Amino acid sequence: SVVVFGSCNMDLVAYVPVAPKQGETVTGREFRTVPGGKGANQAIAAAKAGADARMIGAVGGDEFGAEIHRVLRESTVDTQGLRTVSGRSGTAHIVVDDRGDNSIVVVPSANGTVDALADGDEEIIAGSDSLLLQLEIPQAGVAAAAAAGKRNGVRVVLTPAPAAPLPEELLHDVDLLVPNEHEAAVLTGHDDPERALTALLELVPEVVITLGARGCVYGSSEGSRHEVPAFDVQAVDTTAAGDTFVGVLSAALGEGEEVPAALRRAAAGSALSVQRNGATSAMPTRDEIIRFMAN
Ligand code: ADP
Repeated sequence: SVVVFGSCNMDLVAYVPVAPKQGETVTGREFRTVPGGKGANQAIAAAKAGADARMIGAVGGDEFGAEIHRVLRESTVDTQGLRTVSGRSGTAHIVVDDRGDNSIVVVPSANGTVDALADGDEEIIAGSDSLLLQLEIPQAGVAAAAAAGKRNGVRVVLTPAPAAPLPEELLHDVDLLVPNEHEAAVLTGHDDPERALTALLELVPEVVITLGARGCVYGSSEGSRHEVPAFDVQAVDTTAAGDTFVGVLSAALGEGEEVPAALRRAAAGSALSVQRNGATSAMPTRDEIIRFMAN
């Protein structure tokens, strides 16, 4: 089973022909609200891919919090560890233009309260095989959860996004680090993925660097290396490709798949998700992934 300790947001998305410049107002063509946040995205991706998934985090006592709760449960994510706190739920204010480029303002709100373990969290973490972490909650919360994972022999998987430098104490508790190319460069100062991989393996035992349409590279400090190409598909919306990748990867590892097979399943899952609009609504089921790989 997989537990996510992280963020939940309501994504408020405005679609515009051309994004406004500073001080400018433009008319949008469409508005959508979609539950998201890297934490909730990874939990939903893992659950849809067949894992027994739980979500630990916080939402506000507003209508967005209720909707995030509902969508997680509908995706079969266990929300016993999802607290409702006073104030607003986290929101992401997203403007997407006709070229598919976006700009985003994230307001953490309730996510900002997830800065330590709450009662019951350690038991939920200890009862899981993998703990998935990202950086959309306070770093103190990420560190507390990672330490609990380490203490209980749970595989700790960190997506270091949004990109930020990480304290060494946190990295000590991480088993698998999954940055994209940009995040790997921020962490190591190396734009070249091979050099970044080598540098990151000095810090954590296993690393996957995702490279968008170019797939991913995996390395372990024991010396194994795998390159997994992306599936050749027509991408329409790459939002949450990385979150889908991590969720599916964890589900596959939880089933006992070996690393190369699990990486291939993650590549298939994210390839399916980028062909559809929306983040969580675009995530594929286990059956869809297996069928796609067979073709
Ligand atoms: P992030 O969304 O975190 O920036 P990436 O863009 O690296 O992450 O994408 C994660 C994974 O999703 C890639 O390793 C790849 O397998 C898959 N993926 C992303 N973009 C595409 C694409 N255009 N076509 C096929 N697969 C893709």
